Amino acid sequence: MTDAPDPIDTPTPRRKPKQEITEIAGRPLKPSTLMMGHGYDPALSEGSLKAPIFLTSTFAFENAAAGKRHFEGITGQRPGGADGLVYSRFNGPNQEILEDRLAIWDGAEDALSFSSGMTAICVMLLAYCSAGDVIVHSGPLYAASEGFVAKVMSKFGVKYVDFPAGATREELDAVLNKAKTMAAENGGKVAMIYLESPGNPTNALVDVEAVKAARDAALGGAQAAEGGSTERTSCPIAIDNTFLGPLWQRPLDHGADIVAYSLTKYVGGHSDLVAGSIAGDKKWMDPVRALRNTMGGICDPNTAWMLLRSLETVELRMQRAGENAEKVCAFLAGHEKVERLGYLGMISDERQQDIYDRHCLGAGSTFSVFIKGGEEECFRFLDNLTIAKLAVSLGGTETLASHPASMTHLSVAHGRRQELGIGDNLVRISIGIEDADDLIADFDQALAKV
Ligand SMILES: *Cc1c(COP(=O)(O)O)cnc(C)c1O
Repeated sequence: MTDAPDPIDTPTPRRKPKQEITEIAGRPLKPSTLMMGHGYDPALSEGSLKAPIFLTSTFAFENAAAGKRHFEGITGQRPGGADGLVYSRFNGPNQEILEDRLAIWDGAEDALSFSSGMTAICVMLLAYCSAGDVIVHSGPLYAASEGFVAKVMSKFGVKYVDFPAGATREELDAVLNKAKTMAAENGGKVAMIYLESPGNPTNALVDVEAVKAARDAALGGAQAAEGGSTERTSCPIAIDNTFLGPLWQRPLDHGADIVAYSLTKYVGGHSDLVAGSIAGDKKWMDPVRALRNTMGGICDPNTAWMLLRSLETVELRMQRAGENAEKVCAFLAGHEKVERLGYLGMISDERQQDIYDRHCLGAGSTFSVFIKGGEEECFRFLDNLTIAKLAVSLGGTETLASHPASMTHLSVAHGRRQELGIGDNLVRISIGIEDADDLIADFDQALAKV
């Protein structure tokens, strides 16, 4: 061992920028400031102020030893992951900058980008679950997530138990103990607790703090002892934060281990791309990164670049959309054709309000309107909207409206729909960043025709 660096082992010059400024005079810089430059050094790209789009399938190594070192990182033979760019299924400059910036919003150590929200969720579940394992999940989930757990993971011998979003600590204890018994009977473990909060389209919130306490009580010791690991638990809590993140809810602060996103929604924010991500401690990201390296599914460079642009305005857009939603909901709440609203700014349930107060920093801009009547009344309302577009999805600059019972949740059995509170008189609205008074005028004239 010598202190002098081995010339062959000198890292390649292309690394993350050296002089990263993340605080001034001991004051940490806010995410909105860091979005303009963090993780990108213009000097490495001909001085280009904005990151170029790196359209390449592979990266030239400095020398053979560097190539070997990179592959040691990629294959996990050396801890710490890739320390250079290798091949575009593994990593790329645009994706790395994007991942650095995504991690900032959630206060995470690391993040991974994917070609869609569902790719992120599916690769994560596959990375954590083996035959015999049990997934515990909240309900309702995004339909494709629910389908992946119930119909695809089950093909590989992975079972699941679900609980309603608003479950209490006692209910959570019971469901985790049931999962533990199921796992023991199947020769597996409780592999993951998967949450979605608020749930779509009812906006029911999950008590993440209670889930963590229940997880630690039920699984904390036993599972760790089995594997002989020093980790307190091998069962991470993952949460789909698409509806409120990254601005209005920071689940890693409340006990979640992994936060998942459809970046297609608020983060992308312009309804012009499809992408996804997960973020959390590096130790939780590593198994997912390894599977992504094998399977593919990383976000493409062009989409990553578009997301870098989106991230510069995500706070502005979400703030404005949130303010608009508050004004629109104040109008709708008093309207004679409206039965009630499913809006996080107007919660009537005491326990849900308590979860909101502990977990949420804003009420969001996606909510349900229960119109007096049924499908016919809802359709008349939807067909008469002029500013709001009739489309599924959410979180874009423009206001969207849809009818979950006959669209996004049509495949859900009628009984289960009723159970989840998805009635025929429910219209889901995602408010954009238009002028709030224009939106109110539009809703007013459309409701008049109901
Ligand atoms: C849209 C959405 C997804 C899926 O994301 P895609 O980017 O469409 O794959 C997952 N979860 C929630 C809550 C969503 O709204």
